[in-house]
Amino acid sequence: MTANDHAPTPCPDPDPVLAAAGRRSAELERRIATDPGRFRVLTGDRPTGRLHLGHYFGTLQNRIRLQDQGVDTFVVIADYQVLTDRDVADRLTEHVEDLVLDHLAAGIDPGRSTVFTHSALPELGQLMLPFLSLVSVAELRRNPTVKDEITHSRQASVSGLMFTYPVHQAADILFCKANLVPVGQDQLPHLEVTRTIARRFDDRYGPVFPRPDALLSRAPLLLGTDGTKMSKSRGNAIALADSADDTARLVKGARTDAERRITYDPAARPEVSSLLLLAALCQGRDPHAVADEIGDGGAAALKRTVTEAVNEHLAPLRARRAAYARDRAHVRDVLRAGNERARAVAETTLDEVRTAMGTMY
Ligand code: ATP
Ligand code: MG
Repeated sequence: MTANDHAPTPCPDPDPVLAAAGRRSAELERRIATDPGRFRVLTGDRPTGRLHLGHYFGTLQNRIRLQDQGVDTFVVIADYQVLTDRDVADRLTEHVEDLVLDHLAAGIDPGRSTVFTHSALPELGQLMLPFLSLVSVAELRRNPTVKDEITHSRQASVSGLMFTYPVHQAADILFCKANLVPVGQDQLPHLEVTRTIARRFDDRYGPVFPRPDALLSRAPLLLGTDGTKMSKSRGNAIALADSADDTARLVKGARTDAERRITYDPAARPEVSSLLLLAALCQGRDPHAVADEIGDGGAAALKRTVTEAVNEHLAPLRARRAAYARDRAHVRDVLRAGNERARAVAETTLDEVRTAMGTMY
């Protein structure tokens, strides 16, 4: 595999922001391949449920690969961010443990990567305060991902935490001076906020922070069974931990279209194309080739192909996950060690910030 096998397919994209991020990712892949030691990764997920195929192909696979290429990797389990769009963080402990299990099963090695929870790092809150002073309310209101998340929110009114979510995220990324953030497409606006905050902080107080880059995969926006972004909290996801039978049932219920001939055309046929991409990623193939093979077989044949591809690809991961799930003490040890390491890094950065701001008394 070459560096660019991991980057988004360089096809002309109608969304110029996405196209530019794709080109940047391809360039970054070349640099990572030659000098992984220059990079540090921070990325993560909200503990709102088990990880799904969107996470896996959007960011999780990249996390594992970067770790294996020798990039120092931090994974935040964003437990405070659960409260951005709901009133209670229910089943939090279970969801946090699920995320650790998904990561271990996918190949995160706690000896090399740091998995930690938001709530264990009070320094993040202390970084957030000066960061909040560096962005305007108008900038936060304009953020398209925040707008989208408000639309899908389970709250009667929008919380302050929802609006400040991208600023909190800037603290998550910058506390460890990460310069590489493997994420899905929905995170691009947030990354822009992080870069803006890093730049404005350095302009005002002197150089402390890097300007982190988003790293997109070949599937920056995998669709769920209802044809919208696959999300933990939208009831449209296929979880990594789902059984082979559940996977078959979920894929069978996925939205497609009425055209019998199967073709890969993300702009005109988003649902069919996302399913083709899913099968192609599982099989390490090109989605056009998968489409050609199915030809006039229609949605039923497409869904059979997808089910088989997903179940076959995930079988080893699912077996590993079941084994890890029998040892909850190990899961807690992983978090305890990760929290300790992340905290030490956060303290060092906070000292630098306070020195730069003249608040080191
Ligand atoms: P929630 O519904 O609770 O917001 P989510 O499924 O959107 O959950 P997040 O925890 O918000 O998941 O996202 C974690 C990471 O996974 C982010 O980098 C995000 O871009 C990526 N990601 C999530 N869903 C997808 C998807 N469908 N396709 C590609 N990447 C995704
Ligand atoms: Mg989300």
